[in-house]
Amino acid sequence: MRKYVLVFGVFLLVLGVACATEEMVGCILMPVSGVLYFFGTTSKKVFSFFNVETGKYLVMAGTFITVLSLIFLIPEKNKELRKDIQSFKWSQFGAWKKRRTLFQLFILGLITFHIALVHYKNLNIPSICPRSSTDLATTAGKFGLSAVFWLIMYLLVFIWGRVLCSWFCVYSFVQEQSNNILTGFKKKIHNIVKNNKIIYIITSVFWGSVVYNVAKYALHIDSLTFNLTNGYKVADLWVFWGGMLTMLPLTMFLTYYFGNRFFCKYLCPVGGLTSIYSRLGLLKIKIDHNKCKNCNVCARNCQMGVGIDKYITEKSPAIIDKNCICCGDCIDTCKFSALNYGLVSPISFANSSTRHDIDEAA
Ligand code: SF4
Ligand code: SF4
Ligand code: SF4
Repeated sequence: MRKYVLVFGVFLLVLGVACATEEMVGCILMPVSGVLYFFGTTSKKVFSFFNVETGKYLVMAGTFITVLSLIFLIPEKNKELRKDIQSFKWSQFGAWKKRRTLFQLFILGLITFHIALVHYKNLNIPSICPRSSTDLATTAGKFGLSAVFWLIMYLLVFIWGRVLCSWFCVYSFVQEQSNNILTGFKKKIHNIVKNNKIIYIITSVFWGSVVYNVAKYALHIDSLTFNLTNGYKVADLWVFWGGMLTMLPLTMFLTYYFGNRFFCKYLCPVGGLTSIYSRLGLLKIKIDHNKCKNCNVCARNCQMGVGIDKYITEKSPAIIDKNCICCGDCIDTCKFSALNYGLVSPISFANSSTRHDIDEAA
């Protein structure tokens, strides 16, 4: 019972910080933004009660409950909790996972640098967060730096598939580290995708709404504006890092119950969109069927739950799957070096991808 009070206290504390950093109205609410755009509003306006003021009270209440429950928990010497903490072991990273984690940290460094430039050098560089580009386009007909950035990201899919989702996205980093921490505590986290039709409902509503609103502006062409400086102001450093850190425990909680990368698999309209055409990307995970021993270890460890075994059985030249984010984890897990990055022409896999579409529809 005391453990639950402690968890509740920490939850309130984290929620309070997340409200103060505005993370609660940010990317995590993108799945509902599509509906809000139809009504000409944004998640930031509708959920404006998740603000600094509310955050303060939540932090105070959370701290109070946490401290009290800790005082009463410590004398009890909760053995289970202590055993869990002592047994923590950070998972081993393979070569590609190491490279990817370093690259993700580099991206976080770049964002930090961007924020520092704006704040300390007074440069006028707007935010490039995904919400800022769609919010601006749908509610004001404005396009700026963030729209250019995201256009490049969407075009990159034609070269390297969903690389955005494994190498660039900051929430990808948070989700992966949440999973690493949980598995470090020996918690079993599943990778299975149970029913991801929901992501296509969210994606259709979201992008349908964006197109509908932009088309409305396009009818009066003067009301569409493009300027690189159009965009949201970047937040303070503490807001960005506070948001990142508060998302971690929240994501751990959701990962524990809904599986690895639950947000990417079921909720993200950006991932939903790119998954539709990512199979056209040229760089893929190629399969060397002469080396493969059909051990299935790669499929069991794929964070996106891709059925790699199907591609192996079918003698497909590569993994051509809408859920594959080109992370390279399967290359790391294959002891027989049967998998590697390689260029695959869209013509050579046209038949294979069609077959999978039919399989999935059935
Ligand atoms: S699906 Fe969305 S949240 Fe997941 S990595 Fe891709 S862009 Fe990020
Ligand atoms: S881990 Fe390697 S050897 Fe085993 S099934 Fe996958 S590709 Fe084949
Ligand atoms: S199939 Fe391989 S590259 Fe694709 S998501 Fe799974 S582990 Fe990553």
